Amino acid sequence: MDDGTDRTHTHTGTLRLGPITGQVPRHIRKIYPSSITERVVEVTEALLTTNATLEDVTRIEGGKRRKKSEGVIHNHLADLGLTRGARTLIVNGYVPTSATRVVWNHLNGVRIDEDHDPEWVTLVIDTYLGCTTLSNPTSFHEHVAMRRGITAHLLRAGGRAPKQRLITSNVATAVQISAAIKGRVRPPGKRNTPPIVQQDDRRPDSHISLIPCPHCDGWASHVHALPEVTTGVICPACLKMPTPDSPTFPSDYAMT
Ligand SMILES: [Zn+2]
Repeated sequence: MDDGTDRTHTHTGTLRLGPITGQVPRHIRKIYPSSITERVVEVTEALLTTNATLEDVTRIEGGKRRKKSEGVIHNHLADLGLTRGARTLIVNGYVPTSATRVVWNHLNGVRIDEDHDPEWVTLVIDTYLGCTTLSNPTSFHEHVAMRRGITAHLLRAGGRAPKQRLITSNVATAVQISAAIKGRVRPPGKRNTPPIVQQDDRRPDSHISLIPCPHCDGWASHVHALPEVTTGVICPACLKMPTPDSPTFPSDYAMT
């Protein structure tokens, strides 16, 4: 009986539907790899122990949205005891890999001191796994690019330059230069950014200079907005802060 449908009778009496062509929709195929929630330990380990960014990790995971990955990793780090400030800095990629690796190893009961100054290792563990509240770390980072512009200008000028030249070159405004000298005083409850340059001792009214490194004959010229870099700058030559008791930082602090 021909009812107008496209059916084929076979010798077993069933209908042969023909070969399946085309592609299975992506959302059906994506049963494997497993979800980020299931792989959170692996993904967090990749984020903290390699140079992978959150975007890299997300891509490895298979294209889940960044926000979800960020939330899942945040929750996992919170379960491991990290404060909100520490998590924000780490997940956003502000913290050098040398430091996040120390954090991960410490969380896993491993402490490696061979490659690094043990005092720096202790500083990192106290900073990111201690009880210190790192208030508003994102706003702390807002001024890094401008401040790096100031120190780069001074380095090119041999370490000292007239304030007016920074202003006319659009490197920074008078207010920003003043804040860089004094340290930026923030509203109560928010963290101050430390001074990263100083009045030039030869011509204090008109000139500013980089902070000389007390450990070598370089300048403390590399700006950081990381809580463990308490002076806000390190010397890229000897990797120390301009304080007498500074630990030696790993070399990635001079590159990030
Ligand atoms: Zn130095």
